[in-house]
Amino acid sequence: MAVRKAVSRRSVLKKAAAAVGGGAAAGLLGGDPTAAQAQAPAVLTGTQAGRRFRAFMCFQNPPNTSIQDARSSVETVTMRALHPDRIVVRTEAAQVCYTIVGQVVGNYTPPAILGHSAVGIVEAIGSRVRRVEVGDRVLLANTPQCGVCYNCLRGRSDRCMNTRIEPDVIGTLADGTEVIQQHDRGGFAELIVTPEQYAIPIFYDVPPVELSMLGCSGACGLGTTIGVAPVEVGADVVVLGCGPLGLAAVQGARIKGASQIIAVEPIAARRAVAQQLGATTVIDPNVDTDNVVARIRDLCRGPSARTWAGGRPAAQPGPDFVVEAVGGDIFPPKEVAGPDPTGVLSLQWAWQLCSSAGHVTTVAVSQRGTFSVPAGQWSNGSKNHHPGNFNGVSTLRDVQLFARLIEKGQFNARALGPDTFPLDRTKDALQVVADRTTVGAAIVFS
Ligand SMILES: [Zn+2]
Ligand SMILES: [Zn+2]
Repeated sequence: MAVRKAVSRRSVLKKAAAAVGGGAAAGLLGGDPTAAQAQAPAVLTGTQAGRRFRAFMCFQNPPNTSIQDARSSVETVTMRALHPDRIVVRTEAAQVCYTIVGQVVGNYTPPAILGHSAVGIVEAIGSRVRRVEVGDRVLLANTPQCGVCYNCLRGRSDRCMNTRIEPDVIGTLADGTEVIQQHDRGGFAELIVTPEQYAIPIFYDVPPVELSMLGCSGACGLGTTIGVAPVEVGADVVVLGCGPLGLAAVQGARIKGASQIIAVEPIAARRAVAQQLGATTVIDPNVDTDNVVARIRDLCRGPSARTWAGGRPAAQPGPDFVVEAVGGDIFPPKEVAGPDPTGVLSLQWAWQLCSSAGHVTTVAVSQRGTFSVPAGQWSNGSKNHHPGNFNGVSTLRDVQLFARLIEKGQFNARALGPDTFPLDRTKDALQVVADRTTVGAAIVFS
């Protein structure tokens, strides 16, 4: 496969030259904001001050606000001068994660642009930026990778500590109100101003919407199978939850050569997708809920109880790998709900299911409450627990490989986010994701 840049720098430079002759300066000087949006990509480092772009902004909300009632709107932001360590990206697509449905009803002062991952084209770079070049198509991942902090140097760049650069006010509204990006990346905006450690230049030919699925849940789900606890050939794998994260884990297990992949999911349409993507058995946790763990363990007995010949006692069945990708409900779903809205039951199940020397990987979020583990097992057992969002994914190294899996048809990213919405319908996108009437969605920009 020829490694190539997805977007030619020459075309960006050409557009820049055309726009320079087209009166784009009007926007910079406070004229028609539409003209400002059409202005040239800046191909040199230096100031970006005065550029205008549209962004989905969130303001202050009282507790218990609904998504539709949330105080948020698409506003025009005027950019400040570019920090030497930041880049400017023109957004092509941004994944709508389930976690964001809770953030949109949050309380923001100053107002914030949401969206914690995105795909786009680099239009300008600060004077100290080295990783990316103008014209690159980049994925802005949910986790940065600086390469030099304490965790990055210990193989856990997914827990990189260099997540922000001060000052993080990147622009202002028309009335002078300062604007931030909630995660120092505001994917729900025409332009993103972010530190370079979030950016991964992509050298494979993958459409932006598919690529955007790797920004958070896709890479996170694949990370459960290639990261800290890589799935082994011929293994039994259980995936609890078949949202975008779980569906990525199902595919990761298949790609790694698992022989049995058991997917547990209450929504029938999602179970069907899981089967199409590689699940060998699907289970509805709302059916015979009290015996779900026993049923799954029974499916993972292995071929023999002859312990002198590689077998295990009949009383100790269980999968080699368990991936917990359920999490707590932020809003009650319109689609069928699972057996536990707090998300705690699936954590309990994950521990109970796991074989005596197996691996439990937990990556979902928004759980509420606690669960218990037998103290003796916790102290002196042999189950391996691996928590954490990207679960050991080295973004700069692994996301490139994940993009290759998409390009080669080995990983179906579109299955994680089949619905797309324009920026003006961001609330609608968040609503269908909250309702779970879709597997996932992306905001797209033309
Ligand atoms: Zn996310
Ligand atoms: Zn780091």
